Amino acid sequence: MLNFPNDSLNTARIIFQSHDQYQVIFADRSVHQATLAGRMQLADALPLIGDFVSGQVYDQDKFLITTLLPRQTLLTRASNQQDQAIAANVTTVFITMSLNADFSTNRVERYLTLVWDSGATPVIVLTKADLEPELLVQRQLELEAIAFGVPIVTTTSTTPLVAREQLNAYLQPTTTAVFVGSSGVGKSTLLNILAAQQLQSTKAVRGGDDKGRHTTTARQLFYLPNGAALIDSPGIRGVGVASSTTTATAQSFPDITSLAQQCRFNDCQHEQEPGCAVQAAIANGELSAQRLADYRRLLRETEYATMNSRQITAAKIKRMVGNKKNLRRR
Ligand SMILES: [Zn+2]
Repeated sequence: MLNFPNDSLNTARIIFQSHDQYQVIFADRSVHQATLAGRMQLADALPLIGDFVSGQVYDQDKFLITTLLPRQTLLTRASNQQDQAIAANVTTVFITMSLNADFSTNRVERYLTLVWDSGATPVIVLTKADLEPELLVQRQLELEAIAFGVPIVTTTSTTPLVAREQLNAYLQPTTTAVFVGSSGVGKSTLLNILAAQQLQSTKAVRGGDDKGRHTTTARQLFYLPNGAALIDSPGIRGVGVASSTTTATAQSFPDITSLAQQCRFNDCQHEQEPGCAVQAAIANGELSAQRLADYRRLLRETEYATMNSRQITAAKIKRMVGNKKNLRRR
């Protein structure tokens, strides 16, 4: 049985939300389509991904949500107008950052503030450590200086099983975890490595048909075999980035955003993920690689929008130095 706040058979957890459509999971892992009771629709706080709710089953397999249970934590994204709630009851946030061009202690500080504010516990994940081994010790020291006591996990792209073991150490049956970090640092790769455990168990339960997999990838919260929950929600992607500018970027690249909706994974970074529709379009000549590069550049610039001028200069220098290093090595 999953770790729920009470033993009531009427308690469920939101694993998918889109407009007024919900999916909930029960402690026995059964999944139901759900809707809000009329009076819930007028409430101040609507159920979010990760929320525990109570209600009742009707028509055999549907669930009517009548009560929102108290939240232990609430992860919000600072937008220009107001804080926007994006996930409830998250206990662990993996702040994901690559060792090379993406590295920024300023950004880690922003993420740490956001995580502490939410009530969750941060874990810093440094990815692509194999690409810049000579930087590793220096980066760890820089991080320890600003993130005293926060665990730092180092992963490489060539040892996925080691990465899985390291992350599993933070995934207990009481854990609900999310990955945050910039585009391209390998969040979805790590998520996929962890999700593979869950997909295998789902297939086993369903006798190896494909139905389980498709149901699972549509979910925004899924449980690992040991009872830990992982959230992979489109809303999480923008955490730490001014949401209005990110939207503006998406609007400038309607071709890429519409392709991205067909990617197999919600959090696809369009690198080497299986089922990436953007990479497929580049491969068959539908989309130019330059177009994707332009899109990435604009995304980076929108991140600058959240920094002050000194931070922008530092980030640009860091990026330039990183690029030169890459050139030298080739
Ligand atoms: Zn993709």
